Amino acid sequence: MSSRLKAGNILKVKPFCQSLVTDWKTCLYIISLGSQLLLVDAGVYREEDLKKLDKLVEKLGGWSRVSAVILTHGHADHTGLARGIAEKCSAPIYLHEGDRWMMEDYERYLKQVEVLLERAVKWGFPRSCVEYHGAKWSQGRLDYELTFWSGERLRPAELEAVEVLHTPGHTAGSCSVAVGDIAFTGDAVADISVLSSDLEQHIKSLKLLSRFREFYTAHYGVIPGETALKLADHYLERLEAVITATRSPSTFYEIFKAVYGEPRNLGFRAVFALRNLFTYLDFLERHGFVEVMEEEPPKWRSVREASKLREVLG
Ligand SMILES: [Zn+2]
Repeated sequence: MSSRLKAGNILKVKPFCQSLVTDWKTCLYIISLGSQLLLVDAGVYREEDLKKLDKLVEKLGGWSRVSAVILTHGHADHTGLARGIAEKCSAPIYLHEGDRWMMEDYERYLKQVEVLLERAVKWGFPRSCVEYHGAKWSQGRLDYELTFWSGERLRPAELEAVEVLHTPGHTAGSCSVAVGDIAFTGDAVADISVLSSDLEQHIKSLKLLSRFREFYTAHYGVIPGETALKLADHYLERLEAVITATRSPSTFYEIFKAVYGEPRNLGFRAVFALRNLFTYLDFLERHGFVEVMEEEPPKWRSVREASKLREVLG
């Protein structure tokens, strides 16, 4: 499927499920459940993709058949067409409370990466190694109605066969849509590393998801259920690598190089690596595996054996 992940393509994923690939190779899914339609995610905004979605929904019986729209999280590449969808149908558009701030404080959300880059550069990371020119795919401003939900699960009154599970970690409000033994997971799981903003929650979510047979992801196509625990293991290996890198006191940039290698050629992916390194350090500090030495730039040193990680993560 990944070779067909080209913006504008419509993929027949399963007899009951089609996907529109929006920009940034972000899939939104249209799922037929009897006479009802469920939309999962709203992709990146492009006028031509909104038209394609419109045509596709019309072909499937029209917007009156859409019973619910579930946004797996608040990132702009998953909410882009939401306003256009809201104009076309009256179905509720659900987003978990944990990501509400991204919609209500859109300026802060867009600045997030710059804030992160600023901190990394202050701590010695070379700015020239990151390709980032600001977020350009914005249409996330909240000037249409969203239905926020909270708690561990949501059973939309509109759709009996569907259960939405709160699977935080990628973001605080990330969720996955369970339909039988498959789950539409947004960015909660991937067959390569994915952004994590809270590792403890993320690993818990991956364990919860591991009971599903298949995941329908936003960027990586359809991947098998065992991927969830593999990703959890990957995070564990990264944490071990950070502990190893801090056996002698090391700066942020030194740790980065020890874990990811030289940052040159990483391009935009450097942002993902930086984000995750902050997440790893945050986790290790909170659980007493590393200590920060208040120097300028600060240094981290490991104070607890990596073998204890599995005890903490369960
Ligand atoms: Zn995301």
